[in-house]
Formats: sequence, C-alpha cells, structure tokens
Amino acid sequence: MKATLRLIGMLSLSASIAAAQTLSPSAESAPPACPANPGGRPVSITPEKRPTAEQIRQTAETAAADPTVIVAAEPIPNFGTERYRLADYAECVGDGGCYWADLDAQTRRAEAALDRAIALAKPGEKLAMVLDIDETSMSGFCELRREDYGFLLASFNRWVMTPEAAVPIHGTVRLFNKARAAGVEVFFITGRWDEQREATARNLKLAGYKGWKGLSLRVGPQKQMSTVDYKGQERKKIADAGYRIVLNVGDQWSDLNGTARGEVSVKLPNPFYYLP
Ligand SMILES: [Mg+2]
Repeated sequence: MKATLRLIGMLSLSASIAAAQTLSPSAESAPPACPANPGGRPVSITPEKRPTAEQIRQTAETAAADPTVIVAAEPIPNFGTERYRLADYAECVGDGGCYWADLDAQTRRAEAALDRAIALAKPGEKLAMVLDIDETSMSGFCELRREDYGFLLASFNRWVMTPEAAVPIHGTVRLFNKARAAGVEVFFITGRWDEQREATARNLKLAGYKGWKGLSLRVGPQKQMSTVDYKGQERKKIADAGYRIVLNVGDQWSDLNGTARGEVSVKLPNPFYYLP
C-alpha cells in the first residue's frame, strides 16, 4: 500500500514537472525591465561585448593545440568566463538557458504542490505556506546586474531599502494569491534584519503581496544565528501555533532545511549567490 502511494506520488510529481517544462515562454519568464542606472552599466559585460561560452572554449582549444603555447593547469573555472555565462543565463541571452523560465517553471511546480495540499486538507485544518523573500518573492536581479553580478552585500543592503527593490517574482505572487484564496495563511521568513522591516513590508505590498499572516526578520540574537537555525526557530513558532506547513519555498537550501520543515519544500534556482 505504502509502495503504491509512493508510486502514485512520484507519477503525479513527474506529470507536474513535465507540464511545467512544456509551458510556452511568456513575459513572466523574461527578465524584468530595470530602472535606468545613472552611472550606466559596465560595457565589459554587455551582451554585445561578452564572448559566448563556445567562443571561449574554441579559444582555449586552439591555444592548447598550438605547440608554441605552454598552457596552465587552471583547475577551477575562470571567474570572468563564469560571470559571462551567468549574465547570459540571467538575461536569457544565447543558448545557455534562461533563469526566468526556470524560475517560473519551478513556481508552477510549487502551485501544483499547493493544489494537492489544499485538495487533501481535512475540514478545520490550519494550513500555512512559508516564503523566503530575496530571489523567492522579490528579485534582486536589477541590483545584481548593476553590481556586475558580484553580489556586494553592502550595496545590496542599501538597495533593498529603496522602492526600486519592489521587483515581484510573478510566479510567487500567483502562488501567494492562490494560497490566500484557499484560506492558506502565508508567512514570510527572511534573513534580512529587523531594521529593514518597514522598507520590506512596503516593498512586498508594492510588489503585489497583500494579506500575509506573518513577516519574520532577524531580531536581536537571531542576527548571530545560522540561517538554518534561525529559520527553523521561526517555522517552529508557526507549527506550535497549530499550523501544518504544507509548503516552504526558498532559493537557498538554508531556507528549507532544519526544524519544522515544510511538508513539501520547493527550491527555486539562484545562480547569483549561496547563503549557507
Ligand atoms: Mg532568498
């Protein structure tokens, strides 16, 4: 019986993944229009200037085949070439994939999981969904691009305080609205500090999120805690209040692992940075 249920679950998951992968491209799977940057973008990284991955490979292969050239070991990928690939992926240029399409497909898988949880809920059960904020509910793409994809924390933290940082991730707004329409309470848990609460709440509203139940930012000693411990502590409060956390969505493993895990965890893509 258990094996049959597992098989049904796997088949239903494969079907939802296949459905998400066959979706046609839309405005929601393209990069957002970013406000004009007064300083202008560095020319070194514009699509017109940066070489393709194929051109970079060909240059290296040509040099390696030349007996007059002594090549170096170079055991790790060159940061500059990886940044070109990242820029192409984030801006959906070339044939190295499109971050926005992958992001939208993954939020549709989250929607399918939410649909199942809503359909299977027993009457009177309190259901909750947990959402991370950066690269899950709102996108830092415009700032990351402005920083040449460097993820400079000081600049990033200044930017999140501005209204320009209210860049919605449309698939997550859809997910949020679906949850609210079905009476599922939504709790945001972010690694941002409590000093950023007012700007964060304002930007969430500007980005289209209305009617959340909780908004947790790091307060006091939580600023020193690991993300896994801090987020687990906040999720435990939700569970202790009698909710079933049916879905947890985040772009970092540290959003998803630890105490009071979601019954389903959805990992969104984030090629820009890694937060342990
Ligand atoms: Mg995040």
